[in-house]
Amino acid sequence: MHVFGPTCDALISTVPSPDTLSQANRLVEALVSDQWDACAIQSDVALASVTSERDRLAMLRSLQLWEAIDPPELDRITRLVAQVFDVPTVLVSLVGQDEQRFISKTGFEARGTEREVSICSYAIQQTDVFEVQELREDDRFAQNRLVTGGPLLRFYAGAPLITASGHAIGTLCLIDYVPRCLSEEQRQQLQTFARLVMDQIALRQRVGRRDPVTGLFNRQQFNADLAVLAETKFTDTRNLVLIDAMDLPMAYRLAQALGMGPVEAVIRTVAQRLEDIVAPHAQLYHVAVSRFAFMLPALEPADMMSLLASVEEAVATLVEAQGIPLQPVSYGGIVPFRADDTDDALRKAMSAVQQATLYRKPWQWYDKAYDVACRRQYRLATDVAAGIDKRQFRVVYQPKVRLGDGRIMGAEALLRWTHPELGEVSPAEFIPPVARTPVMQALTDWVIDEVCRQQAEWVAAGFGMPVSINVEASDFADGRLLDRILEPCVRHAVEPGFMELEITEGEWLAGADEVLHQLAKLRQAGIKIAIDDFGTGYSNFSYLYDIPIDTLKLDQRLTRGFMRNERQMAVLHGVIRLCGRIGLSVVAEGIERVEEHASLLRFDCEFGQGFLYSAPVVPEQFVQWMHQGGCVPVTPSRAVAR
Ligand code: C2E
Ligand code: MG
Ligand code: MG
Repeated sequence: MHVFGPTCDALISTVPSPDTLSQANRLVEALVSDQWDACAIQSDVALASVTSERDRLAMLRSLQLWEAIDPPELDRITRLVAQVFDVPTVLVSLVGQDEQRFISKTGFEARGTEREVSICSYAIQQTDVFEVQELREDDRFAQNRLVTGGPLLRFYAGAPLITASGHAIGTLCLIDYVPRCLSEEQRQQLQTFARLVMDQIALRQRVGRRDPVTGLFNRQQFNADLAVLAETKFTDTRNLVLIDAMDLPMAYRLAQALGMGPVEAVIRTVAQRLEDIVAPHAQLYHVAVSRFAFMLPALEPADMMSLLASVEEAVATLVEAQGIPLQPVSYGGIVPFRADDTDDALRKAMSAVQQATLYRKPWQWYDKAYDVACRRQYRLATDVAAGIDKRQFRVVYQPKVRLGDGRIMGAEALLRWTHPELGEVSPAEFIPPVARTPVMQALTDWVIDEVCRQQAEWVAAGFGMPVSINVEASDFADGRLLDRILEPCVRHAVEPGFMELEITEGEWLAGADEVLHQLAKLRQAGIKIAIDDFGTGYSNFSYLYDIPIDTLKLDQRLTRGFMRNERQMAVLHGVIRLCGRIGLSVVAEGIERVEEHASLLRFDCEFGQGFLYSAPVVPEQFVQWMHQGGCVPVTPSRAVAR
């Protein structure tokens, strides 16, 4: 007797060896190989004896067909088979653990049934056609509910769908609602059609499982192999290694100038170098444009380190692509995983690579704290829209004070968010991720509306004052920021002159004519513009004359501790004087100490903001201050950092 698919049992039913995955790959390779016909079906083999149900299910899962719905290439076959055999119903049925699923069907309503009533379950036990001419007269099916009721099946003939590895994953079956019988020729014909179905499935695999640039297995194959590996219930700890070999923005710039040729050449060269090093130990996969992955068995730490060092050296060596010398990058993430936590392994590896890239480290082990923080940011960004609807946001106001007499000259609106599960979340945490999404505009609109509503209340109480709102680069994206401010101003009957926008300096401002045009129009409408956090990042003096602004807000880092640093003090003094000469008003942020207040006053800085005067407060507090004369007292007792 032939042993069908001999590597298969070694692969799945024994304790896995480091070679397990390459064997799995060979299986899938075999499935899609041209030798399919030679090894697909061997009728004298009793399959049940050589493939266990567990292996069979693992193979079925790895093919990733379960969710396929009416693939046209299979539908064409089922329709043709129905015509050729003159039967009302033809199904391509996959037999899973608890149910069977019909991924292609002609003349049948249901998408599947539970496994208990599956006649195909019998058909997959043998290699030739399983035929029951009158189901009512067969003890095994006479009481089957598909026979006694529902579709009232009478005739069944199923040819098993067998992979190159010898696993019967389902059937191509004929169904009739009257008894009938197949001739020997028809039985053979049905088997030929079943082979055709498997050819189509193999083709599908081939098309979807290789990266067209490097020819390496792609992410779909990686996922399928990981699923097979998980099924083996291996007991040690494996390591998933993910490498990013390219700075993508740089690659896109290169592609823009020279086309994709050199970029793909670099990727191919890197893939080849990696393959040379990794192949003796593991299967290499090309899982994203410039990312490669492989899974290592538990190695001695020293062996692992030496392998990783070779990988790093190979990746980061200069590549000559179409005559252009190019430098690949090499950032790698490593994730230890066990059989029961394979699902998330690739995502975690991406997180580790992301962290390696951020900190410019060649290798980074998966760091749960970093991952949790990133996921929290993502979660915050996705929860904002619901938070607006459910009124989880509120605005607090911090007074802007005239340093000479402590008079409140305006306020800065600052967002606060009480998240239903995460509690109070700081805007310093949630604004940066939200600012990268289109939801930022909705959030800014909500703040604008809320500030207008509050201002109208203050004006009605007799003390209207300018309020500044923080806006992000993305708020300028739709070109409608002016309208988005004027509309609520009109609705709440508030003067636009009471509104000020705080924008942060950054690359987005440099040379962005469209933004400058919007800023000019905002100012024409009476809305003031301030540059926030000046003195951090890449402070650029050209902002002071190129960009239409009214106010410069000096960042806390410039004002903090300047008393102890002579040079810092000189810079601060110089900037304040410069602003005075070009007609910009200056607000010093983050003032916490009386001495800072006194020195800033000596430097002729007119306005200040900081805990020395008040932390951000609820709007009612402003009403109280106004009733008390509109000043915030500056006393040494308040000079405590909060
Ligand atoms: P920002 O615009 O520079 O606001 C000043 C921040 O410094 C506020 O933090 C304020 O509470 C804090 N602060 C004020 N005085 C002092 C002080 O004396 N010492 C110290 N240590 N801190 C002081 P907050 O409210 O946590 O806001 C952080 C950042 O979040 C803001 O920095 C702003 O960039 C952003 N943000 C807040 N609300 C909004 C908003 O409605 N929209 C946008 N786009 N961003 C906002
Ligand atoms: Mg601000
Ligand atoms: Mg600021």
